Amino acid sequence: MPDKISPLRRSENMRRIRSHNTSPEIKVRQALRGLDFTGYRLHRRDLPGVPDIAFIGRRKAIFIHGCFWHAHDCKEGLRRPKSNLSYWLPKIDRNKARDSQHLSAMYELGWHVLTIWDCELKDDAALKERLKRFLTS
Ligand SMILES: [Zn+2]
Repeated sequence: MPDKISPLRRSENMRRIRSHNTSPEIKVRQALRGLDFTGYRLHRRDLPGVPDIAFIGRRKAIFIHGCFWHAHDCKEGLRRPKSNLSYWLPKIDRNKARDSQHLSAMYELGWHVLTIWDCELKDDAALKERLKRFLTS
Protein backbone atom coordinates (compact mmCIF):
# COMPACT_ATOMS: atom_id res chain seq x y z
CA MET A 1 0.00 0.00 0.00
CA PRO A 2 1.25 3.47 -0.80
CA ASP A 3 2.90 5.15 2.12
CA LYS A 4 1.48 8.59 2.72
CA ILE A 5 4.29 10.70 4.00
CA SER A 6 4.41 14.43 4.26
CA PRO A 7 6.84 16.29 1.98
CA LEU A 8 8.71 17.38 5.06
CA ARG A 9 9.18 13.91 6.38
CA ARG A 10 10.15 12.75 2.94
CA SER A 11 12.88 15.36 2.78
CA GLU A 12 14.07 14.20 6.22
CA ASN A 13 14.20 10.67 4.90
CA MET A 14 16.12 11.78 1.86
CA ARG A 15 18.52 13.69 4.02
CA ARG A 16 19.10 10.62 6.12
CA ILE A 17 19.86 8.56 3.08
CA ARG A 18 22.33 11.10 1.78
CA SER A 19 23.73 11.67 5.21
CA HIS A 20 27.10 12.68 3.84
CA ASN A 21 27.62 15.84 1.84
CA THR A 22 24.21 17.19 2.71
CA SER A 23 23.71 20.82 1.93
CA PRO A 24 24.06 21.97 5.58
CA GLU A 25 27.48 20.39 5.62
CA ILE A 26 28.42 22.02 2.35
CA LYS A 27 27.35 25.37 3.76
CA VAL A 28 29.65 24.97 6.73
CA ARG A 29 32.49 23.88 4.50
CA GLN A 30 31.99 26.93 2.30
CA ALA A 31 32.09 29.16 5.38
CA LEU A 32 35.33 27.47 6.47
CA ARG A 33 36.81 28.02 3.04
CA GLY A 34 35.83 31.68 3.21
CA LEU A 35 37.68 31.92 6.52
CA ASP A 36 40.68 30.10 5.12
CA PHE A 37 40.40 27.19 7.51
CA THR A 38 41.54 24.15 5.57
CA GLY A 39 43.11 20.82 6.31
CA TYR A 40 40.15 19.33 8.09
CA ARG A 41 39.02 15.75 7.70
CA LEU A 42 35.49 14.60 6.98
CA HIS A 43 33.54 11.86 8.74
CA ARG A 44 36.40 10.28 10.64
CA ARG A 45 35.02 6.90 11.66
CA ASP A 46 37.67 6.50 14.35
CA LEU A 47 36.16 9.37 16.34
CA PRO A 48 33.05 9.04 18.52
CA GLY A 49 29.94 9.92 16.58
CA VAL A 50 31.85 10.35 13.30
CA PRO A 51 32.03 14.14 13.38
CA ASP A 52 31.19 15.85 10.10
CA ILE A 53 34.36 17.93 10.26
CA ALA A 54 37.48 17.32 12.33
CA PHE A 55 40.61 19.45 12.64
CA ILE A 56 42.94 16.74 13.85
CA GLY A 57 45.88 18.94 14.89
CA ARG A 58 43.68 21.41 16.74
CA ARG A 59 41.57 18.62 18.22
CA LYS A 60 38.44 20.47 17.25
CA ALA A 61 35.43 18.80 15.75
CA ILE A 62 32.15 20.02 14.33
CA PHE A 63 28.88 18.15 14.30
CA ILE A 64 26.15 19.43 12.01
CA HIS A 65 22.76 18.27 13.19
CA GLY A 66 19.29 18.37 11.72
CA CYS A 67 16.97 20.04 14.23
CA PHE A 68 14.16 17.53 13.89
CA TRP A 69 16.20 14.34 14.10
CA HIS A 70 18.39 15.48 16.93
CA ALA A 71 15.69 17.26 18.94
CA HIS A 72 17.10 20.75 18.88
CA ASP A 73 15.48 23.20 21.26
CA CYS A 74 13.97 25.25 18.43
CA LYS A 75 10.69 25.37 16.53
CA GLU A 76 11.69 22.67 14.10
CA GLY A 77 13.23 20.52 16.80
CA LEU A 78 10.14 20.70 19.00
CA ARG A 79 7.82 19.85 16.12
CA ARG A 80 6.27 16.44 16.52
CA PRO A 81 5.15 14.12 13.76
CA LYS A 82 1.38 13.86 13.52
CA SER A 83 1.25 10.11 13.28
CA ASN A 84 3.30 7.11 14.27
CA LEU A 85 4.52 8.81 17.41
CA SER A 86 5.38 5.48 18.96
CA TYR A 87 7.84 4.98 16.15
CA TRP A 88 9.32 8.47 15.81
CA LEU A 89 9.65 9.57 19.39
CA PRO A 90 11.86 6.69 20.62
CA LYS A 91 13.93 7.13 17.48
CA ILE A 92 14.49 10.81 18.16
CA ASP A 93 15.16 10.09 21.83
CA ARG A 94 17.78 7.54 20.88
CA ASN A 95 19.48 10.04 18.61
CA LYS A 96 19.54 12.57 21.39
CA ALA A 97 20.98 10.07 23.88
CA ARG A 98 23.60 8.96 21.39
CA ASP A 99 24.59 12.56 20.66
CA SER A 100 25.29 13.23 24.30
CA GLN A 101 27.30 9.99 24.63
CA HIS A 102 29.37 11.00 21.63
CA LEU A 103 29.97 14.44 23.08
CA SER A 104 31.20 13.00 26.39
CA ALA A 105 33.42 10.54 24.59
CA MET A 106 34.93 13.32 22.49
CA TYR A 107 35.59 15.45 25.58
CA GLU A 108 37.22 12.51 27.30
CA LEU A 109 39.56 12.16 24.36
CA GLY A 110 40.50 15.81 24.75
CA TRP A 111 38.53 17.19 21.84
CA HIS A 112 36.65 20.47 21.65
CA VAL A 113 33.32 20.14 19.96
CA LEU A 114 31.03 22.60 18.23
CA THR A 115 27.50 21.56 17.36
CA ILE A 116 25.91 23.49 14.55
CA TRP A 117 22.18 23.12 13.97
CA ASP A 118 20.42 23.38 10.65
CA CYS A 119 18.47 26.39 11.86
CA GLU A 120 21.71 28.24 12.56
CA LEU A 121 22.86 28.11 8.97
CA LYS A 122 20.69 30.90 7.64
CA ASP A 123 22.87 33.74 8.88
CA ASP A 124 26.14 33.41 7.04
CA ALA A 125 27.96 36.13 8.94
CA ALA A 126 26.95 34.69 12.31
CA LEU A 127 28.00 31.22 11.19
CA LYS A 128 31.44 32.47 10.15
CA GLU A 129 31.84 34.35 13.40
CA ARG A 130 31.05 31.24 15.43
CA LEU A 131 33.40 29.09 13.41
CA LYS A 132 36.18 31.63 13.75
CA ARG A 133 35.70 31.93 17.50
CA PHE A 134 35.61 28.16 17.95
CA LEU A 135 38.66 27.45 15.84
CA THR A 136 40.87 30.22 17.16
CA SER A 137 40.01 29.97 20.84
ZN1 LIG B 1 17.15 24.18 15.39
